[in-house]
Amino acid sequence: MDLVIARPDGLYCPPGDFYIDPWHPVERSVITHGHGDHARVGNGHYLATSGSAGILRARLGADINLQTLEYGEVIDHHGVKLSFHPAGHVLGSAQVRLEYRGEVWVASGDYKVEPDGTCTPFEPVRCHTFITESTFGLPIYRWRPQAEIFAEVNEWWRANQARGLASVLYSYAFGKAQRLLHGLDPEIGPILAHGAVEPLNRVYREAGIRIPETHYAGDFKKSDPTLRQALIIAPPSAGGSTWIRRFGEHSDAFASGWMMLRGTRRRRGVDRGFVLSDHADWPGLLWAIEQTGAERVMVTHGSVATLVRYLRDQGLDAQGFTTEYGEEDDTPVATEAQA
Ligand SMILES: [Zn+2]
Ligand SMILES: [Zn+2]
Repeated sequence: MDLVIARPDGLYCPPGDFYIDPWHPVERSVITHGHGDHARVGNGHYLATSGSAGILRARLGADINLQTLEYGEVIDHHGVKLSFHPAGHVLGSAQVRLEYRGEVWVASGDYKVEPDGTCTPFEPVRCHTFITESTFGLPIYRWRPQAEIFAEVNEWWRANQARGLASVLYSYAFGKAQRLLHGLDPEIGPILAHGAVEPLNRVYREAGIRIPETHYAGDFKKSDPTLRQALIIAPPSAGGSTWIRRFGEHSDAFASGWMMLRGTRRRRGVDRGFVLSDHADWPGLLWAIEQTGAERVMVTHGSVATLVRYLRDQGLDAQGFTTEYGEEDDTPVATEAQA
């Protein structure tokens, strides 16, 4: 029996009668992480990791019906043993392990394999069937070590300071922004955060993750000389807005795995692109799949056809799952959505 099937409302577990990261409202949901394409409003019941709780409440509302588990803690629901295991993607992110009558399935949600200091590192889980994402499932996607990317960001920030320009760094508000803040050098100058980023910084700090001091960008006047020394973290949606005009002439950059493609930076119209992703690259995906020992692999969002073909050539039973994941996270948070 298949422990997870693709239904119009989301990935569904028939024996357990619940959905994993449903894209339409359902009665019982199991949430891998707080990004907008995985955690949506309107579900009757939410089950997630305790590390996700702060994020889910900040984004979906304080009053959601939320039950939490620690990593590795097992609950039994209609005979299905369910547990969460670190996915290394963002704070609280998890793979979901399901066990029923001796069959083990793992749904990965989104994951990356390089530990980043802002969330519990990815842990492979042995299973018969592995449900994997493939956001960057093409052989061209190979990430450089993140330390090199942070060095580039620091260098760009210093060079802008020397020219008297503010440095505006666009990134997704949840996960990537905090990873950037954790990784860059706060000694260089003041750091300002957009109102969509700051509530999430707070959740990370409360979880004990080192995030340097950030100032609320809205508190600064356009004439303030601080701005020309500052690095400003903002979501992509702030680009071209009146909000951004207060920084006057500035240099801007975008941090994303998609920056690997030259055309993306041009389309975004930014001065610099930093290749930094919270998803596994091609070697990372293949390594993770191999570590599970799974003979059967279901591929969700991303370059599904390419990864399925590759895995079949390796002798695995691979197929695609149609989902509505992949529009990663640029949704406003429940509080302070505008700033
Ligand atoms: Zn995600
Ligand atoms: Zn996703």
